[in-house]
Amino acid sequence: MKTTAAVLAGLVLLALAPDAAAKEPPMHWTLAIHGGAGTMRREAMTPAREAEYRAALDAALNAGSAVLAKGGSALDAVSAAVAVMEDDPHFNAGRGAVFTWDGTNQLDAAIMDGRTRAAGAIAGVSHVKNPVRLARAVMEHSPHVMLAGAGAEAFARTQGIQMVDHAYFATPERRRQLEELKAKNLGFLDVDHKYGTVGAVALDSQGHVAAATSTGGMTGKRWDRIGDSPIIGAGTYADDRACAVSATGAGEYFIRAGAAHEICARIRFKGESAQTAADAVIKDIAELGGDGGVIVVTPGGDAAFSFNTPGMYRARTSSAGGREVAIFRD
Ligand code: ASP
Repeated sequence: MKTTAAVLAGLVLLALAPDAAAKEPPMHWTLAIHGGAGTMRREAMTPAREAEYRAALDAALNAGSAVLAKGGSALDAVSAAVAVMEDDPHFNAGRGAVFTWDGTNQLDAAIMDGRTRAAGAIAGVSHVKNPVRLARAVMEHSPHVMLAGAGAEAFARTQGIQMVDHAYFATPERRRQLEELKAKNLGFLDVDHKYGTVGAVALDSQGHVAAATSTGGMTGKRWDRIGDSPIIGAGTYADDRACAVSATGAGEYFIRAGAAHEICARIRFKGESAQTAADAVIKDIAELGGDGGVIVVTPGGDAAFSFNTPGMYRARTSSAGGREVAIFRD
């Protein structure tokens, strides 16, 4: 009886199979973004200002998810989301980047493709409108992974990357923050809203992950200081075998911890969930004395946030339909 039933069931399946094959495969994709982690005291955040940040995060999430929903690549999605935040003066990336000690803006960015582990990064550029686009050009059109300063800008010109006058990046609020740092003789970790780096991680419907990060670095930085954001494995990493990560926070600690790669390594070798791995690395950074946060997406579609600061501008969405935009811890 059992055998007859099994044969019948098999026949039914065979009859249904052509139909099933004709249907589109289900599209699973996930996107998470951040707009920086740091001291964002609730008292200092007016409802109007909070609404502005939420709208800014919404716009970036929409730009990235529009790419993924059409079946586009994780790489295109993270580029699109980050470019929107670079153009938005609320964030410390592109326009609205923090000032160096000398009153200039020096931008860093990186992008990584989890499919091939191809990566591109740039550091210390002052005339590139969208640093994430230049990082991508380094990845796709040069034999290198990382270019810096005047050389990176010379390469940008060969690639038709949009260049702007350095005045484009400057905003009155960021100038005020530099003046406050100098007047109060603060360390470069002490200015309110000191963070604001942007990043995105995505899984596309082909099963590939990608990560991108862009920043102006730290207010009052000197001596061509470079943080973790453009360092592959520290502030940015993507590997289809594990996860995609973008970090924000006190970059020196994220470099020392090898943060983004460490999260992927824990997932890959210890079988940890994205949340467990991210929490462990943020805890480790906190023990070293550092503050900040990470966003993580896995090929399985998990999206995790982890941070040890009072807040992190963040948002996530997926093909399953959920949507979350948040600032404070709760
Ligand atoms: N991680 C960045 C840096 O150290 C700053 C930030 O995330 O706000 O340059």
